[in-house]
Amino acid sequence: MQKLHPVHPMGTSARILLTSVFGPYAQNDEYGSREINPMELYHNQVTRIQGGFSLRMFHRSFSLLMLQANIDAPCTVLDFPSLEEFIREIRENEYDIIGISSIITNFYKVKKMCELIRAHRPDTTIVVGGHISNKENIDHTIDADHIVKGDGIQWFRRFLGQDEKKPIRHPMVYSGFGARITGINLPHIKGRTAAILIPSVGCPMGCNFCSTSALFGGKGKFINFYDTGDELFSVMCQIEEKLSVRSFFVLDENFLLHRKRALRLLELMEENRKSWALYVFSSARILQGYTMEQLVRMGITWVWIGLEGENSQYGKLDGVDTRFLVKTLQSHGIRVMGSSIIGLEKHTPKNIENVIEYAVSHDTDFHQFMLYIPNPGTPLHEQHRKEGILLSESELSLADSHGQFRFNYRHPSITDGREEEFLIQAFHRDFDVNGPSLYRLIRTMLKGWQRYKDHPDPRIRDRFQWDAAPLHSSYAGAVWAMTKWYRVNTQMSEKLTLLLKDLYRTFGWKTKILAPVTGYYILTKLKQEEKRLAQGWTYEPGSFHEKNAAALALEHTGTRRIRIAIPETPRSVPDHIPAHGS
Ligand code: SF4
Repeated sequence: MQKLHPVHPMGTSARILLTSVFGPYAQNDEYGSREINPMELYHNQVTRIQGGFSLRMFHRSFSLLMLQANIDAPCTVLDFPSLEEFIREIRENEYDIIGISSIITNFYKVKKMCELIRAHRPDTTIVVGGHISNKENIDHTIDADHIVKGDGIQWFRRFLGQDEKKPIRHPMVYSGFGARITGINLPHIKGRTAAILIPSVGCPMGCNFCSTSALFGGKGKFINFYDTGDELFSVMCQIEEKLSVRSFFVLDENFLLHRKRALRLLELMEENRKSWALYVFSSARILQGYTMEQLVRMGITWVWIGLEGENSQYGKLDGVDTRFLVKTLQSHGIRVMGSSIIGLEKHTPKNIENVIEYAVSHDTDFHQFMLYIPNPGTPLHEQHRKEGILLSESELSLADSHGQFRFNYRHPSITDGREEEFLIQAFHRDFDVNGPSLYRLIRTMLKGWQRYKDHPDPRIRDRFQWDAAPLHSSYAGAVWAMTKWYRVNTQMSEKLTLLLKDLYRTFGWKTKILAPVTGYYILTKLKQEEKRLAQGWTYEPGSFHEKNAAALALEHTGTRRIRIAIPETPRSVPDHIPAHGS
């Protein structure tokens, strides 16, 4: 018999708090925070060993914001609170429902938060969702009333008695905050930061290790929030107007897979002369199904591709020469984030050097390396469970099972914790051979500008002009600084000098005069940053406290005590950002 969906007796009168797990994150503590697992996507698993060149940036808990935007009840979002802030929030405010979103790594924090809610608000209903919902026995190991797997929007709509068929409202939010590189905090410039756009969740490709695909049904399944290009275009226009943006970070596991929708969006962009830039995730074979001309016209500016590993047998890589694909994309100004796996079944200490060399040979702009980790809910986890090779929690803490440290199972050939050594080796080799991602990114942007600056279509020309704006000033300065930084490294020095000359040739004497001035400043900040990092400095996101319209209205009735939003000073594994490329 089908289980009845739970319904809250107060419906949309219930007061709701949605929260992420508490910080600080980049430190070792008893709640499972780990210094090597900061709340920063890039520094956590992409540029982690690039020192002062590492891209530091935080991303909001978009799942909470999506939920809040689609809940009619008074709803507050608390993002990145400290433990004290969380306790204060639940002590000083009456909530009927508290929802916590988390990944499995943060299990101990969720457990603690549930205990605190029971102690301070025994009548409150606790709802837990996100990847943690796939953990075995989760309903017996934390004290929550409901564990929600998959789409939380539909679940909450039913729980509160809302109309389930209503169109999905998209939150208006920037893709990142607190960006910092070479020791410089990047200012938020209106129109330059991308907005987040979430057209779908899940991916039907169903790769055996992919937890984001597994969370939304696995192979063959996905959920479209916007089915058509017309719906998506309309949402993008609203976001464009509200946030004054012209670029979108498309948080969709495999955006280009939905071909009809993507091509209709392109039509509408052209009809309405929208010169937007899109940052997307796409699997290689799907990407190859489009012509470069289509991708450029669609505004694809940055793409995250799963390269996985040579002969890795994933259907999404069938018949694709990934090195050629990366090079071609870059020649059109499209920045590439490649994603490679360390520890596939056939990797051994003997062949790992070749595995790394293959990944590095792609010379992508950014390269993510992750351990091959079976996360609960995935086919890989089920396979290892049947084989009896998963490690127990007493052998490996859940807090250490984040893909940048240890396998959570017994690998056939890589033993004695050597996986971390190989992972770090991959990051270092990529950095040593290909240089800082900042250099690679500038190189690709310049190629795009040189190729498209005189394009006959003003929409395309305009985008490249906008995209290339920092090249003749701050980025040229950054390349100047890098030439000084690498002056004793002949290989890098030659590459950087070539790029600097190319920038001077392209942008002329003003750039040639300004680059050393801004470059000197960047070099000074870079040296300070390296010193700060050597002293153990870590970076934490500030906390956010935001109410929806119904919660604000309730506040004005004076029936509840309210605190005002508090963006505080800095303090992600982001719960919502895919842990791996498509
Ligand atoms: S790894 Fe990429 S292609 Fe594979 S299922 Fe996940 S999102 Fe899809």
